Amino acid sequence: MKVVLATHNPHKVSEFQQIVAMTRPDLEVVGYDGPEPVEDGVTFAENALIKARAAAAHTGLPAMADDSGICVDVLGGSPGIFSAYWAGQKKDATANLELLLDQLADIADPHRTAQFVSTIALVTPAGVEQTVEGVWPGRLAHSAAGAGGFGYDPIFIPDGQAEGAERTTAELSSEEKQSQSHRARAFEVFVPLLKTL
Ligand code: IMP
Repeated sequence: MKVVLATHNPHKVSEFQQIVAMTRPDLEVVGYDGPEPVEDGVTFAENALIKARAAAAHTGLPAMADDSGICVDVLGGSPGIFSAYWAGQKKDATANLELLLDQLADIADPHRTAQFVSTIALVTPAGVEQTVEGVWPGRLAHSAAGAGGFGYDPIFIPDGQAEGAERTTAELSSEEKQSQSHRARAFEVFVPLLKTL
């Protein structure tokens, strides 16, 4: 059986292919090249569902989609769904993280808590809809560090590291990041959903 992944990002397609192959080798994950819907939801789950519904309707196949971002507690959960274009529609990752650092310039460490969040939706052509969420808690650094990853990785310090030896997610190896990230956590709860297909 084929399952379509509602993204035009080939990196995400291969990430999902690896995960699905581990649980359901009989499922073939295919990319989506149909029309992209307007993501006008106000939560990660709504936006993931909008993308998955559009792909299921266009292809007639079960569809998966993900939506993710960074949520800063002192900003009431922002940037959240606006993470990709926090500093404007040009989606400039450096401008986004610089704006966030500026906004938190006067905020001390105990109040710099934040989470990376990833939501994955699964929608069948018959209209069965499910979502799961993965959360990676941490806090914002005071300046960018590290060259790995993408987006907000240079300013996110995940919890659970030894004091004095803390690294941003851009300083972790890609294996370290992939084994504990919000996406990894969402995948963990997503895998059992595949059994329902
Ligand atoms: P997307 O919807 O999954 O493509 O992600 C939306 C935005 O959230 C990205 O453009 C990044 O700004 C941010 N984001 C999501 N996941 C990560 C991550 O693992 N590291 C850094 N930034 C992320």
